[in-house]
Amino acid sequence: MPKFVFVTGGVMSGIGKGVTTASIGKLCQFRGFKVSALKIDPYLNVDPGTLNPIEHGECFITDQVWHFNPIHDEGFNPYTTTKIGELDQDFGTYERFLGDFIHPSHNITSGQIYFETILKERKGNYLGKTVQIIPHCTDMIKNRIKDIAIKENIDVLIIECGGTVGDVESIIFLEAFRQLRLEYPKEDTALIHVTLVPFSEAVGELKSKPTQHSVKELQSAGLQPDFIICRSKIEIPAELKQKISLFTNVPPDHVISNPDIKSIYSVPLIFEEQRLGDLLGYHLNLKPKLVEFSNVNNYSEWKKTADLYMQKYDQTLKIAMPGKYVDNKDSYVSINEALKHACAHEQVNLEIVFIDTEQENFIQELKNCDGILLTPGFGTRGVEGMIKTAKFAIEQKVPYLGICFGAQLFFVAFMRYQMGISDANSNEIDPNTPNPVVSMMDEQHKIVNMGGTMRLGGQTVIIKEGTLLHQSYKATEIRERFRHRYHINQNYFNEEVKSKGLIISAYDKTGKIVNAIELSEKIHPFMVGTQFHPEYCSRPYKPSPIYLKFIQAIKENIK
Ligand code: GLN
Repeated sequence: MPKFVFVTGGVMSGIGKGVTTASIGKLCQFRGFKVSALKIDPYLNVDPGTLNPIEHGECFITDQVWHFNPIHDEGFNPYTTTKIGELDQDFGTYERFLGDFIHPSHNITSGQIYFETILKERKGNYLGKTVQIIPHCTDMIKNRIKDIAIKENIDVLIIECGGTVGDVESIIFLEAFRQLRLEYPKEDTALIHVTLVPFSEAVGELKSKPTQHSVKELQSAGLQPDFIICRSKIEIPAELKQKISLFTNVPPDHVISNPDIKSIYSVPLIFEEQRLGDLLGYHLNLKPKLVEFSNVNNYSEWKKTADLYMQKYDQTLKIAMPGKYVDNKDSYVSINEALKHACAHEQVNLEIVFIDTEQENFIQELKNCDGILLTPGFGTRGVEGMIKTAKFAIEQKVPYLGICFGAQLFFVAFMRYQMGISDANSNEIDPNTPNPVVSMMDEQHKIVNMGGTMRLGGQTVIIKEGTLLHQSYKATEIRERFRHRYHINQNYFNEEVKSKGLIISAYDKTGKIVNAIELSEKIHPFMVGTQFHPEYCSRPYKPSPIYLKFIQAIKENIK
């Protein structure tokens, strides 16, 4: 029988519930259990793919793409089937901590629940019944959760509910949790409430009142937490744990402190110090399995990895990240993490400089950086600045890694400024450009809906030998994740392009889609663009090969 651990949030959002969820999963892995995470997003979007990153942070791309067709009708009907492979950014945290590839069905949104309910009602599945939030929607939520745990043979499934307790839109999910807790024996479920304990500068102390209120709110939904995890600036002292315990009806040793810390990868260690893993194990009546892992599912191996991120190294690399979503640092969280992984393994500190390419003097800012990572993106805003960034990197021989849009714009810059095609552009930026050096992929022309229709998910990449890409991956066939509608137009490759040092370093299996380009090592220290997003597969214990090579090239370049 699977065990279910529910994670709710109190006081406010953005307090690291995703990291807490992933860390609890890690504690279960240390004890030999098969763990996975599931995230509930109470918004009405079917998936976050159509959300602006400023609004909701990055979209995480899973390896698998899920064809969600709740009424199982024949063939592909765009009104009843949708492709889901763009997930909440917390899935990045789960995969980075837990190592596994997570299936996209693990991200449940209100949009999916209502979409399914209404399609089923129209089909006649509920014939004669009044369709209601309780029981029809709540049953659907419960079944999604149970089916995943059983189908994937999971020992412990951790279910994070997005948003904050008290939000109107999360009520039905809390109700589903309440019912599940009633259905299963007490030792089969646990509820962990994550709250903020603010530090009042005025009085110089931590304040527990918001936590007390948020637990009351949870209790009024019929849910009593078994553990409380307190996010705070500093460690929660024993007396405050006692106080929180008294007001929330949770034993004092089940009140866990989660203070600010240099690296998120040490959070599982902080929890272990407070015995959260053992206490949760007792609560769930789970006896640790005596498996000796030799990998990062073993406590001491994970600790070795986590310690890499707590160090201060002698050298600091400044990496510019010019883009258009720079107001919300979460827009590029997987990239930030992939850079951190590569830097920690190369024993250097990382300083990311976010640069708004719409502002005037941004080239000046680039000049102070050791390397440039040109970000993924969509649309036209800030794009001319991004193309100028690529031009700067080519001409000034600054190590450069362009991801997806960043690779496409590298090609635009090369065509404009090295090949003299001054009106070269991407069709996405100028649909009428006479020189569409980046153009829409054939399969995309017939698409009308925006949601779930890009080329998505894990795909095979065929790498050309003798390239920087090949030196990085040390393989000719790899798998990486994609999310795009446009691609580099191969019609613009000719002998002159080649003679000026531009190389196609990878294709897809059909040879139709350019998967990576680079400048010859003879003319540039490191200038690589990948149509794929290597950051999604980067792990704290195993950096993405191309990110690692990028960091090595920067180190080499400033020697
Ligand atoms: N907008 C570009 C495309 O659709 C790049 C997408 C991206 O950077 N993920 O192809």
